[in-house]
Amino acid sequence: MRKNLVAGNWKMNLTYPEGLALVSEITSLAGSAAAGANAPEIVICPPFPLLHGVGQALPQRGKFHLGAQNCHQKESGAFTGEVSAKMLASVGCEYVILGHSERRQYFREDDELLSQKLKAALAAGLKPIFCVGESLDTRESDETFDYIGKQLTDGLFHLSNEEFDQVTVAYEPIWAIGTGRTATSAQAQEVHAFIRERIARAYDAKAALDTTILYGGSANAQNARELFSQPDVDGGLIGGASLKAADFTAIIQSF
Ligand code: PEP
Repeated sequence: MRKNLVAGNWKMNLTYPEGLALVSEITSLAGSAAAGANAPEIVICPPFPLLHGVGQALPQRGKFHLGAQNCHQKESGAFTGEVSAKMLASVGCEYVILGHSERRQYFREDDELLSQKLKAALAAGLKPIFCVGESLDTRESDETFDYIGKQLTDGLFHLSNEEFDQVTVAYEPIWAIGTGRTATSAQAQEVHAFIRERIARAYDAKAALDTTILYGGSANAQNARELFSQPDVDGGLIGGASLKAADFTAIIQSF
């Protein structure tokens, strides 16, 4: 079901004590604002070793949820250094980010692999946050819509209607991630509307209306309200600003 949602992607940052301190600051600053009827769902996505402890430190009722940044496509086995979706679920994760551009770029994750990871996540009961987004070259060559359309078709639209119901989509233009260069709210809205239209074509109008679509890419306390006010922007996937309690809290309060 479509909802307002803000996810904090900590990436490979913070030690365990630092993560606990950040969560404690966020939960005390966010206070009742995070429990109100209009409050977004808040998903905290720390690195793997911090998941269990940070999950325990989150308020057990209310709007806070735990998410991971990746999972392996197999359920278990001889895959040294990897973490399965089932393991994530067993430490309290409800969400998992898949297809982040850093995973696509630095770990060569392609749509075929990501479709397997999606299946594994869903089989373990996790809700995927599936990222798509174009490079600056792609945008400047006017190929943004073709590129994102292909990421959706090849990576995501193989899911059944029931499986797709569990998915949140994140539009993250690569040129905006960690660069301080945010998409304008009009640029974000245009791509979000396109994604929703593609979902309607692949599934149906109800699925399109019900899907939560997040914007990610240098979103911060100053620009979140304007971005979130767009009709097809349901919240944000936040990198850098999720590491600062005051900024992340201000983003949570930007609906
Ligand atoms: C991200 O990595 O998902 C992201 C949006 O990062 P930032 O907010 O730092 O651009």
